[in-house]
Amino acid sequence: RRRGILDERVLQTMNELPRHEFVAPAYVFEAYEDHPLPIGEGQTISQPYMVAVMTEALELHPAGKVLEIGTGSGYQTAILARLAGQVFTIEKFSSLATAAEERLRGMGFTNILYRTGDGSGGWPEHAPYHCILVTAGAPFVPEVLVDQLAEGGRLVIPVGDTNQQELLQVVRRGFDREIHSINYCRFVPLTGKYGWGE
Ligand code: SAH
Repeated sequence: RRRGILDERVLQTMNELPRHEFVAPAYVFEAYEDHPLPIGEGQTISQPYMVAVMTEALELHPAGKVLEIGTGSGYQTAILARLAGQVFTIEKFSSLATAAEERLRGMGFTNILYRTGDGSGGWPEHAPYHCILVTAGAPFVPEVLVDQLAEGGRLVIPVGDTNQQELLQVVRRGFDREIHSINYCRFVPLTGKYGWGE
């Protein structure tokens, strides 16, 4: 709220969701600080402020279909699942994917489909999506992801080098794309075919 998040649904969901359940016991006491934390495999649970900004930029609809690339801890996945109809989430590390799925099932989420592997090319079988969120830094906007958006759909993706990225909201308008810059951020790299490679 202090940093300018206005969407009440996003604020309320983050208020209700226990972030400490998404981190290792060693980090529980830092779970409500506004910074990322390690989750294993060299990855991090994103900073709460960035989670809020990205969620707001997706402009989620209660009946919407959302694709998330980079499940990680599953914290962002849970927020998407609360605010949208159906969530499809992909994580490249099977250890993280398994832990996130167990955690989210344990919390009672039933509207999430999980996949392990390279998600940089999206999940075409379930396209089109109203929203696509990439929670890792990409070198460019993968066209293959924009192609999986419904008309007027939103792709939110950090794009830049590995030190700093610009968070972009890309809106599909027919064969055109409307690109809005949201802010600057620092995410772990998106690997894979349409990311930084393996
Ligand atoms: N939003 C999550 C994770 C953020 S870290 C959270 O807050 O917990 C980004 C995640 O993206 C990491 O778990 C990383 O393994 C994953 N990732 C990176 N490249 C990927 C790719 N090509 N396909 C699927 N997942 C990827």
